[in-house]
Amino acid sequence: MTSKRSPETDIAQAYRYHNAETGAIMPSIQPSTTFARDDQYQLISEHYSYARDENPSNAVPENMLAKLEGGEEALLFSSGMAAAVSVFQALSPGDHVVAPTIMYWGLRAWLIDFSKKWGLILNLYDATDPNALKDSVIRGQTKIIWIETPCNPTWDVIDIETAAGIARSCGAKLIVDSTVSTPILTRPLEYGADIIMHSATKYLNGHGDVVAGALVCQNKDEFWDKIRQNRIQYGAIIGSFEAWLLQRGMRTLHLRVIRASETALKIAHHFNDHKDVHQVLYPGLPEHPGHNIAKKQMKSGFGGMLSIRIKGGERAALRVVKACKIFIRATSLGGVESLIEHRFSIEGEGSPIPKDLIRISVGIESADDLIQDLENAFTKLL
Ligand SMILES: *Cc1c(COP(=O)(O)O)cnc(C)c1O
Repeated sequence: MTSKRSPETDIAQAYRYHNAETGAIMPSIQPSTTFARDDQYQLISEHYSYARDENPSNAVPENMLAKLEGGEEALLFSSGMAAAVSVFQALSPGDHVVAPTIMYWGLRAWLIDFSKKWGLILNLYDATDPNALKDSVIRGQTKIIWIETPCNPTWDVIDIETAAGIARSCGAKLIVDSTVSTPILTRPLEYGADIIMHSATKYLNGHGDVVAGALVCQNKDEFWDKIRQNRIQYGAIIGSFEAWLLQRGMRTLHLRVIRASETALKIAHHFNDHKDVHQVLYPGLPEHPGHNIAKKQMKSGFGGMLSIRIKGGERAALRVVKACKIFIRATSLGGVESLIEHRFSIEGEGSPIPKDLIRISVGIESADDLIQDLENAFTKLL
């Protein structure tokens, strides 16, 4: 039954978790790898036989996430990549897949390589061109349309509803990497997506101390069963302790995402007309090309991720990054601590990322401190 209360009430209490035996209001961690049978050789609980298949520590966080997203079921994985890979490995040779040219770089690189080996036909489309997706699909042959919105690191916004319409028209499934939006800002299933993917390493956990991934489905169909089998057979399930940490992190998801979005918007406005800044890329700015779609499909904020293109190119961008004292120079995103990175250096030669771009993941520190830290770093440009 879906709750009528607001999500922040529900997730703070992990959907009112209560242990009937002990009265505990926090779930316990169950490390057991195997589950005993009774003297009739029947499993004590039909759900649990061996922990690579299904593990009681997953029940609470999977249930929280499924409800937050409004989906039928969630599955937790050992990483975001493991979750994504399990989707593509549910396809068969000859299937056609469409994905954006700008997306999480690790997944794009893997997908290009995997498609060749597995015999998938892959089309990369320019997500900023409104007709490109429609032109890339093949009726009856396209099995997956993959989108990421807002997408790394330009924060272009893809219209989920339009993509879902295209998916329906050609018989494909729409899969949305919603890592950056989180269910606090966007619930892609409401716009017609079939499956949502998260790198739970990022906002869902939010504390920089768990690597995890998740998928949430609209319907538990045959394709979803294949994904579940992949998780079992490839051993891609999340560990008990990580699952437990994830439910703890998710209890504050609402607060963290709202705060990060508010601060990111302040930073974006502050540096938008700065003399040393070439361009601020943030969907919350009216001049961002994705702003109108973002207003439609992102509620309560535009997320905690933004990029700043610095005047003076790569050298200037690196100087700013090096001079920061509060922002931590590290990759990743979605934690309570703010991170800054020179994205091109991370992705390396061949990356489509402009060399003057710095990527910022806004945490929950004081907005004034973060702005001052960047202002100080800009004075080092001279
Ligand atoms: C980090 C990230 C991934 C990969 O997730 P891991 O948990 O690192 O495996 C996928 N998509 C996006 C948008 C990400 O930021």
